Amino acid sequence: RVVVGTKVDQNHVNWVTAYNMLTGIRFTVSRTNAKMDRELTDADFDAKHKFSFDITGNELTPSAKYDFKFKDYAPWVFRHLRTTFGLDPADYLVSLTSKYILSELGSPGKSGSFFYFSRDYKYIIKTIHHGEHKFLRKILKDYYNHVQENPNTLLSQFYGLHRVKIPYGRKIHFVVMNNLFPPHRDIHRTFDLKGSTIGRDFKEEGLDENPRATLKDLNWLRRGLHLEFGPGKKKAFVEQMQKDVKLLQKLHIMDYSMLIGIHDLEKGNEENLRDKTLQVFQPGGEAEDPQPNMLARTPSKLESARKAKELRQMIKTQKPVPMEQTANKMPDELQGQKKNNFFYVDDGGFRATHEDDAPGEEIYYLGIIDCLTHYNLIKRIEHRWKGLTNEESQISAIPPERYGDRFIKFISSVTKTREAAEREKTEDAAH
Ligand code: ATP
Ligand code: CA
Ligand code: CA
Repeated sequence: RVVVGTKVDQNHVNWVTAYNMLTGIRFTVSRTNAKMDRELTDADFDAKHKFSFDITGNELTPSAKYDFKFKDYAPWVFRHLRTTFGLDPADYLVSLTSKYILSELGSPGKSGSFFYFSRDYKYIIKTIHHGEHKFLRKILKDYYNHVQENPNTLLSQFYGLHRVKIPYGRKIHFVVMNNLFPPHRDIHRTFDLKGSTIGRDFKEEGLDENPRATLKDLNWLRRGLHLEFGPGKKKAFVEQMQKDVKLLQKLHIMDYSMLIGIHDLEKGNEENLRDKTLQVFQPGGEAEDPQPNMLARTPSKLESARKAKELRQMIKTQKPVPMEQTANKMPDELQGQKKNNFFYVDDGGFRATHEDDAPGEEIYYLGIIDCLTHYNLIKRIEHRWKGLTNEESQISAIPPERYGDRFIKFISSVTKTREAAEREKTEDAAH
């Protein structure tokens, strides 16, 4: 399956959907941001608001290019979540809606979800199934509380939950979340690890031409790779993972993975790779010709200035964005997303360290993704028939408790310094 990111412009089949998504986000997010902040109530977690957009506009919504309906879920909860995750409110809106251009990754997983990247590459819109949507609403309070208590959580950061529908079209649910990977650095290898071996092998043929494929557990093991964290970092990382997985187990979630992007500091950034960054997200993809100018570059000074101008324009033409959030800010500040998470401090990622805590040669961009799969009937059925032929330890669809334990065990076991790994290798050889 070949998946290549494509720019969603007016000629793209999903242009109308993308435009409607962004218009809805822009309107609802600025509407909530315009109000005075307040404490959350229980009702905020169940809240949903429906808006009708049309080409003439009405007393509630401004005019839009197309007729569509938009639903906004738990807007206050997500406003607070965005604050918790250190997002600048104006920055969020500009990133998502300036020029209304996204790029689409098509459907990289087998789930059929679509992925869209904001123009500046900071945010991901993922379409989700109705079941995942209902489930996220159900667990929202647990997620919210967890995130408050765990500022360094490795779980996907959810910034918004919405639904869009065009006349006679189907309902499309989607979340906005963090892109784990940085806009300004090449990712030299990407892994999606679950701690299972069945079906966890990415065909290695032709990999050289496709350094951006998302590899899996067996590819990782075959390469003898480790997350090279010295004692201090390892402890922090494993402890946070344990806390996060505990929540997932409690909520009967499974099938999630640790997504790891590796930036090799010695290789650095190849200027000509930069424009192809989009291909980092070619999870199931086979070798493809690079597509130039797909977006995802570090914005130039000129672009930053343009962005600031756009923002000013936006504030002028749209009531909601309150001034105190945007006034007195330089373009650079508006652009820079504050990262207060411990695991994202090293230029958006977490740098490898040696045994003596000296900095290592790699930066890891990592987090736990795809965490909205409830251990439901389907999984139980899958478990039953796969269970007939495979060892349970190797099946990916095992109950959430064991799924989580196996996940922690695997990820912890591959977290060790280069020095420790080499020592073990020589010890093994001696026996
Ligand atoms: P499936 O259920 O078949 O695994 P899915 O449609 O639910 O697929 P995910 O597992 O969420 O998709 O993600 C698929 C791929 O998209 C990941 O392996 C990764 O390459 C990329 N991806 C997903 N989430 C992120 C993120 N937050 N940051 C960067 N890349 C991501
Ligand atoms: Ca997945
Ligand atoms: Ca999934």
